Formats: sequence, structure tokens, C-alpha cells
Amino acid sequence: MGQKILVVEDNELNLKLFCDLLRAHGYAAEPVRDGREAVERARAFSPDLVVMDIQMPHVSGLELIERMKADEELRAIPIMAVTAYAAKGDEERIRDAGAEGYVSKPISVMKFVEAVRALLALAETRAPEAQTENATGTEAEAPAEDAETDEDKDATAAAESAGGGNGDDKSS
Ligand code: MN
Repeated sequence: MGQKILVVEDNELNLKLFCDLLRAHGYAAEPVRDGREAVERARAFSPDLVVMDIQMPHVSGLELIERMKADEELRAIPIMAVTAYAAKGDEERIRDAGAEGYVSKPISVMKFVEAVRALLALAETRAPEAQTENATGTEAEAPAEDAETDEDKDATAAAESAGGGNGDDKSS
């Protein structure tokens, strides 16, 4: 079974490109054109990875990343941001918001797919219940500064037991 990737992108051509590319590599890609639906769709689709455009009408990808990373149920899902602006400080802002990966547009197909693979490997190390097939011996590049191991454990335990948020409101 292919891993599931939610693709949030307002531009029709990019959306199709990303989804075609992911499907060609065996992933199950789910397109989301309207950023306002992204959080809801992430809950329903339960993806292994989210590809997130930053420049969108109505709601920016940055805001969506922050929302997902503040959400007990969604925060463990890696997010790969995709943005046309490669200005200095941009990548930092995206990482500060909580995205685990970053790819600039126009994308290099190889870099895009490599980034997807790396983040999916990262997701496997985070989710102990996802021990389905460990055929790929790829090591995850866990970001060293991500010292949220305890919180991750808590989130997993909470999700397994009840799924009810216990108001863990430590906003950083
Ligand atoms: Mn856009």
C-alpha cells in the first residue's frame, strides 16, 4: 500500500504536477485546492505527509502549518512546505512555523521526491504503530533541534487511549 500524501496547493497546474509525480512514485496523493479545507481534509485522510504550498488565497500555508502543529492529532505528520519565494529568512520562518521540510519552486523533480522520501522516513521513526513494512533501510534525518520527544510520546499515548484533547496548551 502506498503511503498517503495530502497535497495543499491552490495552483491547478502545480497541484496536478505534484500529485502526478507522487503517484508515479507509488504514493497515494490527495489534492486539496482550497487551503481553508486543509485541516479538515488532513483529519479525514490521515496522511503520512503533507505537501503545503505557502502562497495561497484566504489562508497562508504558514498559518496552516502552525495550526496543524498546534493540533494534537495532526502535529506528528511531517509537513513539506513548497514556496516560490526563496528570500532570505523565508526558510527560517517556515521552519519556525513547524514545517519539517522545505522545497522551493520551481521544483526540481529529484529534490522534491528525495525530500518526500526523507520526511516519510522521519514519520516512521515518530509513529511506533506504523511498523507495517520496514523494507527500506533508509535512516531518517531527525532534526537535532527537535527536542519534543516527550511531547510526541504524550500525543501518541493520548491518541491511542481516548483521542480527547486534554488542553495541553503550551504555546511556544
Ligand atoms: Mn500558491
